[in-house]
Amino acid sequence: MYKYKNVKIHLVQGDITTMAVDAIVNAANNTLLGGGGVDGAIHRAGGPTILEQCKKIGGCPTGEARITTAGNMPSKYVIHAVGPVYKGGNKNEDKLLYNAYYNSLKLAKDYNLKTIAFPAISTGVYGYPKDEASDIAIKAVMDFIDNEGGIEEVYFVLFNKDNYTLYEEKLNLKFSR
Ligand code: ADP
Repeated sequence: MYKYKNVKIHLVQGDITTMAVDAIVNAANNTLLGGGGVDGAIHRAGGPTILEQCKKIGGCPTGEARITTAGNMPSKYVIHAVGPVYKGGNKNEDKLLYNAYYNSLKLAKDYNLKTIAFPAISTGVYGYPKDEASDIAIKAVMDFIDNEGGIEEVYFVLFNKDNYTLYEEKLNLKFSR
């Protein structure tokens, strides 16, 4: 466990659908109608009520986020964030990925949520380089804590060991334990 300005930052290797937090973040796509990777895992674990809510919402622009309940999962809500497809790095991907994290935290604050878990958005099928993506994720969380506050615990949940190790190295440099 790390700390940044009284916010607890946790690093977890595993499946985000098992996290008992106020909100887990989904790496969704613009349709919000489900997909592969973590999106598929969330809809499978949460059950059909999530898709019903997503259909009513009717989609989400890249860099933004929308919220539903979490169905059968132990978390209370799912924040569906849409990260960019990586197209070489000159299509505003960095800002869009940053916004996906930042806007997820804003939505959590609007709902008075205190604990949130993030996957490594865009680093699967969307092809964002993991190293750069981890820097952006950490920066967005730190900026939010600096600018907004309200959040008490942030979990970075990495499915793969290589991504976990990457985050561990960076968090060790940035935060106290
Ligand atoms: P994107 O389309 O945004 O790239 P993916 O779901 O393909 O989304 O991948 C995003 C990240 O989520 C990848 O690093 C992938 O390894 C990870 N991932 C896949 N399944 C899970 C899960 N159940 N819990 C947490 N992370 C997951």
